[in-house]
Amino acid sequence: MQPLYQARDRIEAQLLRDFLDRHSIETLVFGDYLSGAVGELPADIYPTLWLINDADLERARALLMRFQSETGSRHAAAPWACPVCGEEVQGDFDLCWNCGQGRPGRQ
Ligand SMILES: [Zn+2]
Repeated sequence: MQPLYQARDRIEAQLLRDFLDRHSIETLVFGDYLSGAVGELPADIYPTLWLINDADLERARALLMRFQSETGSRHAAAPWACPVCGEEVQGDFDLCWNCGQGRPGRQ
């Protein structure tokens, strides 16, 4: 399993999940169950889509870009390098998916 995308909210997560499902890519959404208790949690916890099959990663990323351009819901954000582990993180993520470090310069 691999993290694919951090959604703005559970609706976007569900839309993307349906979109990928139509292309035979299975995903799970983690985090949306937290919505009910959001007042007690850091505001930067968003639903995250995880790929069930790692082999789908390249195709899923291509579909994700198509999804984003079709929905116009996101502007392309530049990737950033994690200051802790050096992993390159997609601009859509505010947390390093390798070690969980937050994006530098953001509160
Ligand atoms: Zn990291």
